[in-house]
Amino acid sequence: MIKFRLILSTKIFKMVNINQLISRDLKHFWHPCTQMKDFETCPPLFIEKAHGSYLYTNKGPLIDAISSWWCKSLGHGHPAVIAAIKDQLDQFEHVITANTTNPQLVALAEELAQITKKQHVFFASDGSSAVEIAMKLAIHANQIKGYTDKNQFIALQNGYHGETLGTMSISDLGLYKAPYRSFSLTCHYVEDIPYISGKEDLLWNNCDAYWSIVEKKLEAISNKVCAIVVEPLVQGAGGMLCYSPDFLKRLSSWAKRNNIYLIADEIMTGMGRTGKWLASHHADVEPDLICLSKGLTSGSIPLSCVMIDNSIFDLFYADYDSGKSFLHSHTYSGNALAVSAALATIRAMREEKIIEQAQNLGEYMFAALTEVAKLSGKLNNVRGIGAVVAADLEDREDHRIGNKVYQQALNHGALIRPIGKTLYWLPPLNTNHEVIGKLAEITLNSIKRAYVTP
Ligand SMILES: *Cc1c(COP(=O)(O)O)cnc(C)c1O
Repeated sequence: MIKFRLILSTKIFKMVNINQLISRDLKHFWHPCTQMKDFETCPPLFIEKAHGSYLYTNKGPLIDAISSWWCKSLGHGHPAVIAAIKDQLDQFEHVITANTTNPQLVALAEELAQITKKQHVFFASDGSSAVEIAMKLAIHANQIKGYTDKNQFIALQNGYHGETLGTMSISDLGLYKAPYRSFSLTCHYVEDIPYISGKEDLLWNNCDAYWSIVEKKLEAISNKVCAIVVEPLVQGAGGMLCYSPDFLKRLSSWAKRNNIYLIADEIMTGMGRTGKWLASHHADVEPDLICLSKGLTSGSIPLSCVMIDNSIFDLFYADYDSGKSFLHSHTYSGNALAVSAALATIRAMREEKIIEQAQNLGEYMFAALTEVAKLSGKLNNVRGIGAVVAADLEDREDHRIGNKVYQQALNHGALIRPIGKTLYWLPPLNTNHEVIGKLAEITLNSIKRAYVTP
């Protein structure tokens, strides 16, 4: 209570400072993934602090319904994660890992090997770099095997794997990649994907009709391809689209039969998001390469990694000058603070049974969003797997309806950031049901207001 009053009494003073701060910000900081001109009408939020599922801002407390771009798996400021970072900070913050080791690094590698059933880990700092590493490994491994022509990729329509030139060329990103199209690697996109609403969908277990069409198209290109890259089960940036695990299973065995690597980009879906450690586990597939990042450190310090199958690692195990060395480096590969944060995240996930919580949260969110859809009459195609649920805002010729919902939600108490017309919730995995109840109410009110806003 006292704290609340304090915030109110300093509010006017703060308003002035915040406006100044925002104008200084807009002078120099080019915000990511944003049209800077939009800030003329909708200035950036001022963040004072963040805790659990909440952000404390100049708009008041906001539920972080998108886990700050999908990474805050244990919420903001999880005590175990903070403590681990502080402990590490007392020892050392970063040392080159090309030729050094330390206990946290080894322990994390062991944990990740156990979770993913892949024996080797290669660290980077962001998701795109992890996907690029996997792509380079797939090309290079095929060269070592003597298949120099196998250097093309297969990816899924609506797939997203990052924003560097390499990862963009295997992403189906329309507007985002249009200016850079001529710099692309060759990538074939799989269409006819059996999209589903969730586990109850009949296609969950059998997508035969779709597969027979897809398989025919794949046969035509198989000998030029080094890897298939997929987001297992949920395509995030493409609009939170869920597809059949049976489809992934068939794709995986087709890839194995044709000597093509399967790269599972679990950057969004991994680390418990879908109610299992990896979304691939729903389909019982064993990818050759697995990319992880978001959620890995509970969004505290940037970290990503590629988990690598023995069979690939072994190809590169040779004399330095053999052309079989993987000479890839990032300055901060295996950064000690990030590693200790990831280790603490995994241990807290085990101790607090976060995977079970995610599954349970997902079911609760699915029911709540279904209710919002019913009451608003403006949401179609409710879908979700684990702790990610989504639905499409009804079309009324207004391509910025998602943005209007976003702005309304800020006034009602939540950070919701629709992707085009896709509204979704992807909160921290330990968010409680009461918060979801509030989020549902906020979402409903925001939708109602957005549709009457000119
Ligand atoms: C976010 C994301 C990436 C890219 O990660 P960055 O850290 O933003 O580079 C790649 N693949 C998927 C599936 C993602 O969701």
